[in-house]
This record gives sequence, structure tokens and C-alpha cells, in this order.
Amino acid sequence: MKLVFLGPPGAGKGTQAERIAESEHIAHISSGDMLRTEIRKGTEAGLLAKDLIEKGEFVPDEIIIEMVKDRILEPDCANGFLFDGFPRTVAQADALKEIADIDAVIDIDVPFDRLLERITGRRVCPNCGMAYHISTYAGDTCEKCGEKLCQRDDDTAETVQNRLTVYERLTRPLTEYYRKEGLLRIVNGDLGIDEVTEQIRKAIR
Ligand code: AMP
Repeated sequence: MKLVFLGPPGAGKGTQAERIAESEHIAHISSGDMLRTEIRKGTEAGLLAKDLIEKGEFVPDEIIIEMVKDRILEPDCANGFLFDGFPRTVAQADALKEIADIDAVIDIDVPFDRLLERITGRRVCPNCGMAYHISTYAGDTCEKCGEKLCQRDDDTAETVQNRLTVYERLTRPLTEYYRKEGLLRIVNGDLGIDEVTEQIRKAIR
């Protein structure tokens, strides 16, 4: 199975992608996580990405497309994969069509005014990427691996405004793009985590 998760920053794509990838035995491919790894490694792509990510801007399509093309050739993708955060532009969606046949696109829908609160309250594990929210988790270490949680540099109120604006301008058109392709499944992301997972399971069945 090959899936795409669409949805604005803070919609819960990462959390849901983690769960669905595990239950479907497919690879979870987060373009944001891949870029953060490049930044940590100090590669050329990482250096370029760092500034853009901190400003809430997108990384150029060519870099992302190359990265994803290589990633889906890895052995853990043989049974399928789930893209979380890719594609984010029409050019990326066009490129994706050339490299994979997607079975379904899950659009996680959350009202715009809820997103800011969700993102600024998010804390992540810098080691395994697990995400938490301060309203539901009072601890300051990761439940999975024990690492100290932190706030992402681009989860601050100033950067988030720009990320949401960029999303509306460049990524929102993909909803219509995939509706026309007959692949779009919209799920209500403004519910509890388990309820959203259940809706996604129904949508991909
Ligand atoms: P995410 O972890 O998905 O929220 O991504 C964090 C940041 O990485 C985004 O705000 C972008 O700056 C960059 N990024 C991730 N995926 C893409 C993509 N497909 N195209 C362009 N930029 C991306």
C-alpha cells in the first residue's frame, strides 16, 4: 500500500502516520524528519534547509524530490510506504506521479484556528521524533526512549504563522488535485487521536 498524508502543520500527520505505518507494515517517510537528519549531519542539503525551515519556508522542490526518489528504493519500502509531509507543492505531486502509484491520499482536516494552539504546545523527542502536547502530557522526557523533550525551532508562534500561510498558498491546492485524481479521502482531525486513527483505517480499507 502506498499512501500520502495531507494536512496543515499541527493536523496530527506525524502521530497518525506513525500508527498507520506500524499497523500496515509499511515505511513511514517524513520529509521533515529526513531534512532534520540532514541538518544534524551538517550536509549541504541540511545547511540550505536549516534557514528555510526556521523561517517557515519550503525547501526547494528539486532537493525534496531527489531525497524521496532515493528513499523509496530502500528495502523497508518494498511492502509500501506512507508519505508524511510530501508532496507539499503541485510540482512535487507531479513528480510523485512519475515515481509511484499512490493508492489513497488522506487529508487530515483541522479547523484553522485550532492549529496554532496545537503547534505551539507541541513538544518532540529529538531522538525518535515522537510528538507530545503539553495539554495531555505533563512529563518532560520521551515515553518511548527517555530522551529530554524539546520544542522544534519552527514551532514558535512567529514561524507558525508563516508556515500556515505557505501551506494555504502552496499545499492547499493539492486537495483539489487529488480530488480530481479520485484519490482523496478527507478525515476529521479535530477528534481524539484514537478516533482519527480509526477513521483513517476505514478510509484506506
Ligand atoms: P514537517 O516536519 O513536515 O512539519 O516539515 C518541517 C519543515 O521542513 C517544513 O516547514 C518545510 O520547511 C520543510 N519541508 C518538509 N517537507 C517538505 C516538502 N515536501 N517540501 C518542501 N519543504 C518541506
